[in-house]
Amino acid sequence: MSLDYAAMLRVALDEARQGLEEGGIPIGAALFRADGTLLGAGHNRRVQENDPSVHAETDAFRKAGRQPNYRDTIMVTTLAPCWYCSGLVRQFKIGTVVVGESRTFAGGVQWLRDNGVTVIDLDDPEGAALMENFIRDHPALWNEDIGEA
Ligand SMILES: [Zn+2]
Repeated sequence: MSLDYAAMLRVALDEARQGLEEGGIPIGAALFRADGTLLGAGHNRRVQENDPSVHAETDAFRKAGRQPNYRDTIMVTTLAPCWYCSGLVRQFKIGTVVVGESRTFAGGVQWLRDNGVTVIDLDDPEGAALMENFIRDHPALWNEDIGEA
């Protein structure tokens, strides 16, 4: 069985665009079962909720509700996960992370790979353009999100 990672990424990209429309940071994510069933999707809502803990990955993770185990789940995110979200992947032993792109932000991709997580980087130009435009227009908001001064 082969999964359509591009179709899975589109779910996350729709979330990212929704976040941008809401005035937030355009990062989306979705958690899937190994067979491609969607468990939950979400987007960064730091600005909308005034909550720095709502990253795209944590939002998708919470929307998916409790799962008996995460080894066979796939976290799909439009942008390479930050340290906080990479920690979530390790904590719950999510087996696979599909990254839309890691050009604008490398995050914890190498650390995840070094620790046995399968990381698939689709290097998607649409998500990269979303982030490049956002970072250009709102550098302070982006730096706040990733904990940079
Ligand atoms: Zn994060």
